Amino acid sequence: MKFKAWFQCVMGCEGKYSLGEIIYKCPKCGSLLEVQHDMSLLKRRKPETWIRLFEDRFRHTTWPYGSGVWGKKELVNPEIADENVVSLFEGGTNLFWADRLGRELGMKELWIKQCGNDHTGSFKDLGMTVLVSQVKQMIADGKKIPAVACASTGDTSAALAAFCAAAGIKAIVLLPRNKVSNAQLIQPIANNALTLALETDFDGCMRIVQELTEKENIYLANSMNSLRIEGQKTVSIELTQQFDWEVPEVIIIPGGNLGNVSALGKGFLEMKELGIIDELPQIICAQTERANPLYLSYKKGFKQIEPVKAKKTLASAIQIGNPVSAHKAIRTLKQFNGVVEQATESELANACARADRTGLFCCPHTGVALAVLFKLIEQKRLDPKARTVVISTAHGLKFTDFKLNYHEDKIQGVKPMYQNLPIPVAADFKKVRDIIYRQIEKDFGKTSGGKIRGKQQ
Ligand SMILES: *Cc1c(COP(=O)(O)O)cnc(C)c1O
Ligand SMILES: [Zn+2]
Repeated sequence: MKFKAWFQCVMGCEGKYSLGEIIYKCPKCGSLLEVQHDMSLLKRRKPETWIRLFEDRFRHTTWPYGSGVWGKKELVNPEIADENVVSLFEGGTNLFWADRLGRELGMKELWIKQCGNDHTGSFKDLGMTVLVSQVKQMIADGKKIPAVACASTGDTSAALAAFCAAAGIKAIVLLPRNKVSNAQLIQPIANNALTLALETDFDGCMRIVQELTEKENIYLANSMNSLRIEGQKTVSIELTQQFDWEVPEVIIIPGGNLGNVSALGKGFLEMKELGIIDELPQIICAQTERANPLYLSYKKGFKQIEPVKAKKTLASAIQIGNPVSAHKAIRTLKQFNGVVEQATESELANACARADRTGLFCCPHTGVALAVLFKLIEQKRLDPKARTVVISTAHGLKFTDFKLNYHEDKIQGVKPMYQNLPIPVAADFKKVRDIIYRQIEKDFGKTSGGKIRGKQQ
């Protein structure tokens, strides 16, 4: 069976454009495009057949179907030749059962979808594999594409650089100077991307890259390019699969440029249309208070959305004042009983540290989502019995400076409530032992004195 997909205008203008065409916006009204699949073809397969197919492929080795994204190829980008797929075995990430943290909050079931446990350490891999594969296909079809470019808050550039390096395609990344973590900066450098550090913020980089890709035949890799959304939407399919095809009740996701929240919704809507699921979850979008245009819009009933000037935040990947996918996100939230809530710097930093104490290792953006979870539970706006998933967007190891500064109490305006510091001690048995017992008693109360071997001597 041959499946088909095309670009069309999100606002509903007439016109279909090939996924192999270099086009990002509707030529009639200038709105974003989205990928539409020929659902009538997809519906010819029964839901059980899809489920069996997805199960058979998941994390197996037959190229490229073991990838969490390409295991759903028919629903993602069906017309790419398998040999032109550029995959780094993305997706298939752990759905972490946050049992201890959930119980602390009085919740029945809390899960963290660990999208940061991916090749470049963030969920951006899910979308980038689709986009770079499309570029490889276009080059194979004879299109002249000298390079692929993106503006980034750090994770998009890392993903673009890695997938392009694997495919032998030139990547260009535009980063706001001194606004990404060292780990994020070294990623494109290591993967030999042309790395430009601009004296501006993300929104400034975005303006330049748009002009660059409009005027030159350099291909645009930002999420304005809706091919990325097709890969990112597989997170909904994958986490439903990980619950044996049961839909969780609530999903909390951090939002910046707002492509990912739309992607999450699209995955569920398409599964529902295909009869794979019957219900939809509630979607809650979490923003930092320092870059919160969607939150402000939500407060006014989503009547309109005004760009804001994003302020410096620990959650640097969502320091975005003028989100490209705002309208798509609002449409999604309206369909998913959506809520938007915000978190302060202090709330997000302490939320990370609290979660880390239960075995997680959270990035600041996941901290924003967790802080919103804590707030909604405390204010009784979220049912603690509801099966809840937090989307963790990046790996904490990309943000070690943030975590170290937190524990060393070096973040201005943040009082660390869960501080843990290394204790300097001489290489002396008695001194080491005394510190250990003092600490154990502090954490667990008095130990049953003398029961521990050696204590009586
Ligand atoms: C990109 C990114 C986000 C935000 O995703 P959007 O699609 O821009 O809303 C959140 N967290 C991390 C770690 C990211 O890299
Ligand atoms: Zn249009």
